Amino acid sequence: MYRADYHIHTSFSRDSEAPIDVQVEEAVRQGFDEIAITDHLEKEPIDGIIQFNMVIEDYLKRLAEIKKQYEGKIRIKTGLEIGYEPRWHGEILRLVDPKDFDFIICSTHKCEEEDMNTGRFFEGRSQVQGFTRYFEEVLSTIQNFPFFNVYGHMDYINRYGPFAHHILYVSDYKELIFEILKALKDRGQGIEINTSGIRYGLGHFNPQIEVLKMYLDMGGEIITIGSDSHFTHHVGYLWNEAAKLLKNIGFKYYTAFEKGKPIFHYL
Ligand SMILES: [Zn+2]
Ligand SMILES: [Zn+2]
Repeated sequence: MYRADYHIHTSFSRDSEAPIDVQVEEAVRQGFDEIAITDHLEKEPIDGIIQFNMVIEDYLKRLAEIKKQYEGKIRIKTGLEIGYEPRWHGEILRLVDPKDFDFIICSTHKCEEEDMNTGRFFEGRSQVQGFTRYFEEVLSTIQNFPFFNVYGHMDYINRYGPFAHHILYVSDYKELIFEILKALKDRGQGIEINTSGIRYGLGHFNPQIEVLKMYLDMGGEIITIGSDSHFTHHVGYLWNEAAKLLKNIGFKYYTAFEKGKPIFHYL
């Protein structure tokens, strides 16, 4: 089976110290046919100044070198994970030329200027209110921001918040999640199955199985499989299990990308 891990971070991401060649080497060691390096593009305070955390030109240059270096051993795709916030919309559009990338993930890591993992986003909100606000933000991002191929860990909001449990009851957000999946499908975009949910102790991948089924039932086809690895020992994390799960649910293919065009591989 052709295997492609489509969510790998390297030291170009501020929250990873893994050198790019070490990440690639590990994927080769595990026999992956293809990977997408998807480092973060976020705007955040660095040395007291709010700025983008990556110089895209340097990143593209390094990826071009590494691709050449590993030619014939593994296919390396030029990816990006954009941490989208509406307040930086214009700057992101100016900075990112989708033609430079094979594959772009869009993720909501911050909402109303708050990082989900600080807990401040949930202040004054019940769990249902917080989760609903997050899903509304995802939907409006899809409606307003065109430059991406899949939405990252689209239901991962249940990792966060000062609550007794971290369960996402999909039935509480069914219409909103349906709208999100439909908006993606209508635009020729998709989702990823992100295996890191297990590492975070959620007991499932993101999105969880009910969401995956909803997507399949509406005819959703574009779905990548990614480990979201920030450490070398997480490269390929539970990739085979995620592929098996997709197959068991009824998906026939998963997706890779080349210059923004989906390529389907049998599960
Ligand atoms: Zn992310
Ligand atoms: Zn990531």
